[in-house]
Amino acid sequence: MGSTKEWSGINQFPVATQTALHGLLGKVRQQNVDSMTVLVLGKGGVGKSSTVNSIIGERVAAVSAFQSETLRPLFVSRSRAGFTLNIIDTPGLIEGGWVNDQALEIIKRFLMDKTIDVVLYVDRLDGYRVDSLDKQVIRAITRSFGPQIWKLCLLVLTHAQLPPPDGASYDDYVQQRSEGLLAAIRHEAGFKKTDPDIPYALVENSGRCSTNAGGEKILPNGTVWVPNLVGRLVQVVTNEHPSLLVDKKLIEGPNANNRGKLWIPLVLLAQYFLVVRPIRKAIENDIQEETRRKPAWETFVDDYNSLNEINASRRGR
Ligand code: GDP
Ligand code: MG
Repeated sequence: MGSTKEWSGINQFPVATQTALHGLLGKVRQQNVDSMTVLVLGKGGVGKSSTVNSIIGERVAAVSAFQSETLRPLFVSRSRAGFTLNIIDTPGLIEGGWVNDQALEIIKRFLMDKTIDVVLYVDRLDGYRVDSLDKQVIRAITRSFGPQIWKLCLLVLTHAQLPPPDGASYDDYVQQRSEGLLAAIRHEAGFKKTDPDIPYALVENSGRCSTNAGGEKILPNGTVWVPNLVGRLVQVVTNEHPSLLVDKKLIEGPNANNRGKLWIPLVLLAQYFLVVRPIRKAIENDIQEETRRKPAWETFVDDYNSLNEINASRRGR
């Protein structure tokens, strides 16, 4: 892959966070894992790009308070102490109130031949319910990558510094929100009760996040969230579940070669109604009218031949 940029963003974290991160990297290296690739997915505006920047410790991904204008995923790679972290930031999957299938298709093609170790599914902690749009997004991801992708999932809840509404306790609030989203994911992925829990992590990307005495960013429940988040990533990458290789088969679907064949009877039927029958009619008309000009059926025959050529090339593939 050539030389990867040094993960120098670690240096800007407080010393205690740097120590914790180096400890985690040492831990994965011990398990013979020397790289991981993290795919970041979710609706627009939930804090995907901000979270990428927070982990890398650099402004690598453009953050926008408004709808992002790009459909293109972003691949960021950083190395430190013999370990390479790859993160793929993606555009939001919703547009005009619907799942943007084109965006998912672009993401899939962008990922060709890459192996995904962790999927960060990002949403806001302060979303107040799981609605049909959330389910649509989860369903679309399942459809695109297969239900197995959720075995690599780490749910990330941003805006985690916000106080819970109506004086509820912070921990109850977090539990409710995470359980709601995880239940939807498990349902859409067809998880059984015996399937393992999907982990989650809390994130506060705001520069105004509270800090502890060591200058590390902390949440209302005291969690030092940067090392906690990276720890969860490491947990997923070292779980027994295999990573996901995005290959041709996954991109085009298991029945890609057969899918075209389904159309053949339909094409033949259309051919009959659009070409053969009109030709017959035209011939009948010609006979009736006994015209001298180029008979209409000749142009129909041209059309018929070109349609046949199209079909032949379609069948040939
Ligand atoms: P994306 O569309 O999912 O990539 O979301 P962005 O990272 O571009 O963030 C959208 C907006 O939310 C920006 O204005 C960010 O500054 C803001 N934002 C993202 N994460 C957080 C967070 O954890 N806390 C707060 N307060 N704002 C956030
Ligand atoms: Mg973004």
